[in-house]
Amino acid sequence: MNENKIVAVVGAGIVGTSCALWLQKKGFLVTLIDPDKPGSGTSSGNACIIADYGCVPVNSPSIFKRLPGLMFSSNSPLSVDVKYALTHLPWMIRFLSNCRPSRVARISRILGKLLLKTYEGLDPLLEFSDSQHLLSQQGCMHLYKTEREFKNARAANQMRRDNGVIFSELDAADIRELEPGIKSSFARGLLFDQASQVINPQSLTTRYFDCFQKNLGRYVKQRALAVVHEKDAVRILLDDGEILDADRIVIAAGAFSRQIKGTGAERLPLDTERGYHVQYAGMQSLLNRPVSWNEAGFYATPMDEGLRIAGTVEIAGYQETKNPRNLNYLIRKGQEMFDLPERPDQEWLGFRPTFPDALPVIGYSLVSEYVLYAFGHHHLGLTLAGITGKLIAELINDEEPSHNIKPFSPRRFL
Ligand SMILES: Cc1cc2nc3c(=O)[nH]c(=O)nc-3n(C[C@H](O)[C@H](O)[C@H](O)COP(=O)(O)OP(=O)(O)OC[C@H]3O[C@@H](n4cnc5c(N)ncnc54)[C@H](O)[C@@H]3O)c2cc1C
Repeated sequence: MNENKIVAVVGAGIVGTSCALWLQKKGFLVTLIDPDKPGSGTSSGNACIIADYGCVPVNSPSIFKRLPGLMFSSNSPLSVDVKYALTHLPWMIRFLSNCRPSRVARISRILGKLLLKTYEGLDPLLEFSDSQHLLSQQGCMHLYKTEREFKNARAANQMRRDNGVIFSELDAADIRELEPGIKSSFARGLLFDQASQVINPQSLTTRYFDCFQKNLGRYVKQRALAVVHEKDAVRILLDDGEILDADRIVIAAGAFSRQIKGTGAERLPLDTERGYHVQYAGMQSLLNRPVSWNEAGFYATPMDEGLRIAGTVEIAGYQETKNPRNLNYLIRKGQEMFDLPERPDQEWLGFRPTFPDALPVIGYSLVSEYVLYAFGHHHLGLTLAGITGKLIAELINDEEPSHNIKPFSPRRFL
């Protein structure tokens, strides 16, 4: 029934390829558009966690108290380019207004409900693309160096409980027993023993993309410049001047989605939280599972190719230059936790796509009935890609979505 309908997906990160596979499963002809190697953007360098427990948004009521200290200390996981922040003041104000307790509780409830659907979106894609071997289910740990750090996280952990997240509490001896490769001591911890990780996120998107091509997907290695809405159709204008017709277009270009212009695209308050990783080849045996030093704002994750230390938030826009402050911070913190070589083998910068209310947009655009949005997944894109793809495919297939998508509508920004 759908085999004559063409859906073009702009962006071949984990979100775009997940949309593409779900659409193929529903019988659509799918074209993926991306100038770069599929999955090689932000989707490749993350902390690899399927964080279905991640219902605590970055927006936090405590930010007002902690912000000055976080911004101006070199020993902080947050850094802000003040000039950039001042020129993007409306976004900052919107972000801060979403740090009020009532807003945070609402965001957490919405995220929590969507996160419950994580595996409904992910498992069928792992099976379709024969990628189950890329998922490891050893759980995940959050660590607190001191009782004070643990106390600081009390409200966040209560929010997890309120959302039905299951975890157990650990003391210093439990932590040592579970993760003997951590050299420094941590007073308290949480074990999310149902959580899983991807052992290599680039390999996962590559497998999705190979599966997409095997199922007769068309790949166009171009940048989409604009989406043009016409009376009965929609078109994409590409970098090389080509114009591509489609029945529906899904914009899934991560943090860069806002750069796509035209009558079929509206201007939404998307910005980026830059994040970093450093990686140590062959050092993965130091850990049995991903571990986060919660207050220090990073994860250490054992991968197939090494140990990755990933995290930090930098508000500084889209320029490609890496900030040595963030890299040095991760190196220093990693060395505090593990016996690691002086220098990592890899240093990486990525761009989280973030709205000021820490929710993605999933659903139809307000300016064209032919255009859908699937972007803005901030710290949770790897986790939420599968369920996003499923919901997008249901919408295009004219089905009632299997989850309430109202909170993810762009209408909330009007
Ligand atoms: C340090 C760090 C750690 C993280 N850890 C985790 C984690 O453990 N778990 C988790 O769930 N999430 C994590 N995330 C978040 C996650 O990585 C992102 O939310 C996710 O990768 C976003 O995927 P995406 O497909 O939307 O974007 P991207 O991966 O950025 O893909 C977008 C694609 O669109 C393409 N594109 C851009 N512009 C155009 C255009 N005009 N035309 C065509 N194509 C275009 C790009 O080339 C790119 O391939 C982390 C992020 C960072 C930075």
